[in-house]
Amino acid sequence: KGPNGKYTVTLIPGDGIGPEISQSVKDIYSAAKVPIEWEEVDVTPIFKNGKTAIPDYAIASVKKNTVALKGPLATPIGKGHVSLNLTLRRTFNLFANVRPCVSIKGFKTPYDDVNTVLIRENTEGEYSGIEHEIVDGVVQSIKLITHEASERVARYAFFYARSTGRKRVTAVHKANIMKMSDGMFLSACRQVSKDFPEIQYDEDLLDRVCLHITQNPAPYADRVMVMPNLYGDILSDMCAGLIGGLGLTPSGNIGRDASIFEAVHGSAPDIAGKGLANPTALLLSSLMMLRHMNLNEYADKIEKAALGTIAEGKTITGDLGGKSSTKEYTAAIVDKILKA
Ligand code: NAD
Repeated sequence: KGPNGKYTVTLIPGDGIGPEISQSVKDIYSAAKVPIEWEEVDVTPIFKNGKTAIPDYAIASVKKNTVALKGPLATPIGKGHVSLNLTLRRTFNLFANVRPCVSIKGFKTPYDDVNTVLIRENTEGEYSGIEHEIVDGVVQSIKLITHEASERVARYAFFYARSTGRKRVTAVHKANIMKMSDGMFLSACRQVSKDFPEIQYDEDLLDRVCLHITQNPAPYADRVMVMPNLYGDILSDMCAGLIGGLGLTPSGNIGRDASIFEAVHGSAPDIAGKGLANPTALLLSSLMMLRHMNLNEYADKIEKAALGTIAEGKTITGDLGGKSSTKEYTAAIVDKILKA
């Protein structure tokens, strides 16, 4: 918090529709008088020692502020580019990816009572990137699970459950087959569960969870699900599908050195610069950020205005079946905030 009583937060507007949806968030925050000062940084990759890298000042800004809101980044295809998202993840040790999926009133999907929270281990597992060809035609890929990373993400899951009033943590696994690796993940979860006696703990198989959530998501509203990297990648998109897709899904990357909040969708090059983008996912991600910073009352106020605008259905963007521009939708939310 600075001398003016405001928190400085790094804003990475990103590529494609990124600047448009970031502007929308900034306008809504001004209207709601959120005590945040944005430090805007450009992360267009630079060449450093023959490799693409994120500019030092961008890294320094996130390091200093420890909280950032990030628009989508376009990953150039080919030429051995390392994804910038991966670089950010590694630079700031973003060990947990948090993905809540809540049904949005006014956007009809097969279920209107989805309310899941999934926490994914974000640094190892099948995505360790350790692969080699043993002999011609035979490739081995190593799934790395450490007790340390499993414990770290499990602890965050219990902490998140406690601070958001969820009564249970479910570890999702395939330890019936991956006996040692997922077995270690589970043993770390069980150990951490002892430190949170007020939170119930159980375990469920990934395939069973997929089956049950798609049949009836309601029972999952009482808990936080925590799981290794690959399972979380897939199951989190499945949950996003239940609320109508990636366009409405926020996420947070919680790290040791900083936390970065971002929409799940990409830079939408097909509609970039046309004023058509839906800023809701970035806005909802920013509300996760506000709650992470204990600025809940501002988050609640903005959430009410945004969800109210969608529920009314008069001023919504094309992806939600409306005809409004990003600016018109933003203005409708601002109007609700000012009248509240
Ligand atoms: P995308 O999410 O950008 O677009 C998929 C479709 O959804 C498009 O038709 C797009 O117009 C639409 N869409 C997405 N977000 C929208 C929004 N807010 N409002 C309205 N419509 C929206 O996925 P893609 O086309 O596969 O990827 C484009 C680029 O984004 C690629 O360079 C990819 O690497 C990058 N990407 C970045 C991130 C990230 O930074 N976290 C995530 C995914 C993809």
